[in-house]
Amino acid sequence: MSLAAPYPEFEEIVQSIGDAGLRLSEIEASEGAAGNISVYLGWPVEVRRKFPLEDTIDLPQAVPQLAGGTFLVTGSGRRLREIHVDPLANIGCLVVNADGRTARLYTSPRRLFTRLTSEFNSHLAVHADQIARSGTNFHAVVHGQPLQLTYLSHIATYRDETYLNQHLLRWQPEAIVNLPEGIGVAAFQVPGSPELMAATVEALRTHRVVVWAKHGVMARSDVSVKRAADRIEYAETAARYECLNLAHGERGEGLSAAEVRAICDFLGIQQSIF
Ligand SMILES: [Zn+2]
Repeated sequence: MSLAAPYPEFEEIVQSIGDAGLRLSEIEASEGAAGNISVYLGWPVEVRRKFPLEDTIDLPQAVPQLAGGTFLVTGSGRRLREIHVDPLANIGCLVVNADGRTARLYTSPRRLFTRLTSEFNSHLAVHADQIARSGTNFHAVVHGQPLQLTYLSHIATYRDETYLNQHLLRWQPEAIVNLPEGIGVAAFQVPGSPELMAATVEALRTHRVVVWAKHGVMARSDVSVKRAADRIEYAETAARYECLNLAHGERGEGLSAAEVRAICDFLGIQQSIF
């Protein structure tokens, strides 16, 4: 889907990045400077009043189809929990040049970082892929490192996508409602690598959240930044139940497959996990 005019105010989107960062920190998905957020805006935005400093940077991949598009991206080494205090100091604003290989990076004089997040290659690849596929004019991508979901990805059986989803999405009736495609799984790849980027693009074609094995998660939304962060929270809550159950000798029943199917039938939800 695309957002319809009147578009959200620039300040509103900047603030939503701060709010999402704070929430990810509250759910222990962003220790230290872990995690990063980026947002694509496909409508004309005047950014120079907020971000008067201008540099030119090379993009990690050529995206000529996104020329003129705007990205808000968190700075490398910045703490997600602090963005809301001074969003402009923690976020850079990229406007893609006509050549598609470079972009103008606009920043605030209060800027607290030198480079954008090192995971921007995965962010940009996911944005470009999703925008090409759906034509959306808004797209948010959030990376976090939620403790319990990441812990489960260290256990081989939970890296099997069917096993992971059947075990995690059984703990709350809302789980299948919020994650009807389930959680994707990408095998471990070196952070920031082209391999991680490719695996992420692939997994996010068919899911709205993907676990990066032994590292964390990435989620996307074409509605809002908070919606993407919510998906991480839903997945992490499910993992928390699963960890509780493991710690208590697996005494919990969880919803049965028939119970989950009854919920889906009642609410008209398409799913192929249960
Ligand atoms: Zn990370």
